[in-house]
Amino acid sequence: MAVKYLDFHKYLKGMKKQVLLLNQDNTPLNIITISKAFKLLSKDKVWMDETSSEFYEVVSVSKIVKIPKILILKYYVKLPFKKVAPNRINILRRDKYCCQYCGIDLCEKNATIDHVIPRCRGGGHSWINLVAACKDCNLFKGNRTPKEAKMELKTKPKEPSYGFLFDDMLITFRKNKNA
Ligand SMILES: [Zn+2]
Repeated sequence: MAVKYLDFHKYLKGMKKQVLLLNQDNTPLNIITISKAFKLLSKDKVWMDETSSEFYEVVSVSKIVKIPKILILKYYVKLPFKKVAPNRINILRRDKYCCQYCGIDLCEKNATIDHVIPRCRGGGHSWINLVAACKDCNLFKGNRTPKEAKMELKTKPKEPSYGFLFDDMLITFRKNKNA
């Protein structure tokens, strides 16, 4: 038995599939690999979300193993305060791929990140000083503040919560829960 388990685990390790791990109180904790998910299931440390219909079907030698895409820990893990990095992709996601000055939808081609207070004037590389902007607005604004350029921000930029990282996976989770 032990040998079989090890083999299967090795097989899962090669798979790039991801599982959303929720804390005991249903808040997102992490995105884990399918092999870690299998380990937690075998050790009886997680609940399967009964209402969710989302499973990965893994075909092993003798049977098909169903591994849920969302698992809930049976115990509560207290998280140290985690921060989300204000990188390009996260700024674009927070601002919903929408230029914060003129409001047009952004695609990879016209999306830029603007320093609200320009770097050369002491503006930092932080959540509250970075916004998504289209190329035209960014170029027009140049090294000016929004006030100087007479441009208004659609929303006041702020730091999102840690759970923001898992938003896409949580949408599926909530849809299934409410179905
Ligand atoms: Zn714009």
